Amino acid sequence: MSRLRRVAVSVGLSVGVTLIALKIVSVLSGIPVPAIYWLVATLCPLLLSALISGHLVRKEETLREIYAELQLAHAQLKQASEIDPMTGLLNRGAFLASVARIRAAGKTGWLMLIDVDHFKHINDAHGHETGDHALRTIAALLRESVRNDDLIGRLGGEEFGIYMIETAHAEALLLSERVRCHIAQSPAYSVDGRACFVTVSIGLSTERTPAETLKDVLHRADMAMYQAKEDGRNRILATI
Ligand code: GH3
Ligand code: MG
Ligand code: MG
Repeated sequence: MSRLRRVAVSVGLSVGVTLIALKIVSVLSGIPVPAIYWLVATLCPLLLSALISGHLVRKEETLREIYAELQLAHAQLKQASEIDPMTGLLNRGAFLASVARIRAAGKTGWLMLIDVDHFKHINDAHGHETGDHALRTIAALLRESVRNDDLIGRLGGEEFGIYMIETAHAEALLLSERVRCHIAQSPAYSVDGRACFVTVSIGLSTERTPAETLKDVLHRADMAMYQAKEDGRNRILATI
């Protein structure tokens, strides 16, 4: 309802109730009410309620605006606390919390732990800016490689995580291979106009039993990823 309409309704009600009350008093007492009384009984509530309801409606509108601003600020804060600003992926805390929520709902999944190979070299040879650019490209390549429902997060520096919900072992391996190949075959950054490539090592793990904690799953994926590094990098190692 518009501001004017709400004020009009309030004024109408005040005047109407006052006039009806005056009429009832007049009928019950048998005393006729002079015209001037009717005029006063109309103008007084009209003026008072127009002033008061106008003021209240303005206050209500201000409160609504403040509430909308608060909601927006809350949404922005939530986003800032969950999203890694550089890549736009979930940050470590939000990623692990999302996986924990999925597991608490009784679902299982495969965890892919992805670490960029020899990333320090990119920073050392071409500068931090180039390294940042490569990380953003890798994040985009990860998004392209997996399905819509898979969770993707940046777990730290040059380490990423993907959680594939309710996925069979063979499919998890297939998706990991797709991630590895997509990154190895796509330019991640360029130097002097020349396309440069990076590779990743991937550790893959899942719950051995429903009682196993996320920490256990994460630890085994971590071990597998380090083994993949030792085995020569640019490869996937799965643990069951
Ligand atoms: P490995 O194959 O064993 O994983 O070697 P690596 O060089 O990737 O691993 P290491 O842990 O030695 O180095 C990781 C590097 O990642 C070091 C750090 O400066 C860099 N790094 C971490 N976070 C960022 C970031 O946000 N931006 C940039 N540009 N570099 C980062
Ligand atoms: Mg690395
Ligand atoms: Mg690392």
